[in-house]
Order: sequence, then structure tokens, then C-alpha cells
Amino acid sequence: MAAPGQKVVLITGCSSGIGLWIATLLAKDEQQRYYVIATMRNLQKKERLLEAVGEAYGKTLSLFTLDVCSDESVSECISSIKDRHIDILINNAGVGLVSPVECVSMEEVRSVFETNVFGVIRMIKAVIPDMKKRRAGHIIVISSTMGLQGVVFNDVYAASKFAVEGFCESLAVQLLKFNINVSMIEPGPVHTEFELKMTEGIYQKDYPGCDAETLHYFKNVYLPASVDVFQTLGQSPQQIAMSTKQVMETRRPRFRTLTNPLYTPLVALKMADESGDLSVRSLHHLLFNLGGVMKLSMNTLKCLTCVCVRSRTVQPD
Ligand code: NAD
Repeated sequence: MAAPGQKVVLITGCSSGIGLWIATLLAKDEQQRYYVIATMRNLQKKERLLEAVGEAYGKTLSLFTLDVCSDESVSECISSIKDRHIDILINNAGVGLVSPVECVSMEEVRSVFETNVFGVIRMIKAVIPDMKKRRAGHIIVISSTMGLQGVVFNDVYAASKFAVEGFCESLAVQLLKFNINVSMIEPGPVHTEFELKMTEGIYQKDYPGCDAETLHYFKNVYLPASVDVFQTLGQSPQQIAMSTKQVMETRRPRFRTLTNPLYTPLVALKMADESGDLSVRSLHHLLFNLGGVMKLSMNTLKCLTCVCVRSRTVQPD
């Protein structure tokens, strides 16, 4: 149970990746300012989290079952928390989908929206009445740069993150009246199981209904470029956890945090042109006509962001 003065933080999807590292970072806070309610769909997957938190388990962290796609599961979990008191809700659970859209079933589309959109809305609806009563709270959503800028062959996933951005941007205005802050964390690529789950068996899979030309672009142009982008620009889940903690700890939490500064120009490009053509055409040109230049830029970036170069250029005083 939370000690007096500790902030109660509920996090969804803590069995792996970003959720696991946010839970660990907060539970191991030196000043023990947080009491973490780490949730996951299946408690049998708790081992990695327990190994990461070590002795904090049972002291500053407890485990609960929670499936964001189920009304009963959400209601059961929140009702079992003392006084339903949650200071900070971190909506982290999410799933990806990468594929030419014509071979994705509507069931798959619904399943992405069920977790990434309806799951977030379900969680927020469950906590705001109590936060409003207390006139205090912070709702954080692990969104994505793909909630601001679409990416080829990620159509459904990007649509789900755009939906959540629109929902939160609207809600944030009302909630400020009740002293409740809303914050979106927008990572670019992050090295977690997410990447593996999305690309597992992708080359072997059948793509019914997809023409040979699209399939060629998907497998031979997009996928290799995507691997390069992950290798070059990918952040660690620990870095996203640090950015999230920083947002939690500012007196006036910001609404939007792009965790990877290399993505800021991409978003600026989109905002700079009201017709939208600049970003659509530039991204098309970059991927389909300037594949070689893109590879070269990625390799250059890889060198520039390499730890050995950074340690030579950043001089401690
Ligand atoms: P991950 O696959 O390691 O973690 C996702 C977690 O969500 C898993 O633990 C999974 O079990 C859980 N989850 C899925 N459906 C759930 C449900 N119905 N109820 C409860 N939990 C559920 O991947 P990650 O990279 O740590 O992803 C975390 C968040 O970060 C996601 O919202 C994702 O969209 C976002 N994100 C990831 C990346 C990336 O490149 N990895 C980039 C930007 C944003």
C-alpha cells in the first residue's frame, strides 16, 4: 500500500518494453516518491519485471492483472485499489501492425483500435471521475511520432495513434479546469519486442489480395529501409522511461514530448505546409526514388550518433 506522500502511479502493459522500464525506474526512485501499480494482461509474464525491480517488489511496486480491452478487467483492477486513488495513469499498452492495408482483415484493424484507442479511452474514463473529485491528476499516454506523421505501410497503426492524439488534445482542455494534466509521449523507433512482434515471419507470410508490385515495395523497399531506421534512430526503452519520468516531475507538465530530437524536423515539415503535399511527396520521393540517398543519410547519421563520435565531440568541462 502507498505510504503517505507517495504518488500512486498505474501503468498498463508492464510485462515488457517501455512499460516494464517505466515501472522499474519509478519503483526504484531513490526518494521513494512513487507507489507503482504495475499491470499486465497475464501475470505469468511477471518474471522479467520482477527481476528488473528486485527488492522494490512489495515495497514500492505491486502487480495487478489488467487487460485494457476488457471493461470487467479495468473495473476490477481500479476497484481493488484503495479508495480508487490513482495520481498518475500511464497508458502504455499498445500493439503494432505493419502490412499493405488491402491484405489486413477488418478484424485485425479492429483489434489494433481495440487496444491502442478504445483501451486508452476505457482507462481514462475509469480514472477521471475520481481525479476530478480530488482536483488533481496526471494522465500520460505513450503515443508515437506516428500519431503526428503517418508512415507508409503503418496505415492502421498510425491511424490508431492519430485517433488517440485527437482524443487527448480535446480532453486536455477540459481536464485542465480540474487541475488534471494530460501528456503525450511520442517516441520514434524504440528497441523493444514491439519491433520483433511486428516483423516476425513477415517475409514468409501470405498477403492475400495484394498485387506483386505493392508486395515488392513492401518487402524489398520499405522493410530494409525500416530496419535501417530502427538501427540508426532507435532509442532504448530506458530512454523513453527517463523522458516520461521527467515529464511527470515538471511543475507544469508539457502536453507533447517528442523523445527523439531527430524527428522534430519531420513534424515541423508537415506543419510548415498547409497543403500537406510537402511531407507526402518528400517521403514518397525519399523512399521510392532516393533509396540510395536515404541509405547514405542513415549510415552518416549512424556514424554521427555513434557513442565513440559523441565521446570525441562532447567535451566535459
Ligand atoms: P512491447 O510489445 O514490449 O509492449 C507493449 C505491452 O503492451 C506488452 O507488454 C503487451 O503485453 C501489452 N499489451 C498489449 N495489449 C494489451 C492489452 N489488451 N492489455 C494490457 N496490456 C496489453 O512494446 P513497447 O515498444 O514497449 O510498446 C509500448 C508502447 O509504446 C505502445 O503503446 C507502442 O505503441 C508505443 N511505441 C512503441 C514504439 C517502438 O518502436 N517500440 C515506438 C513508438 C511508440
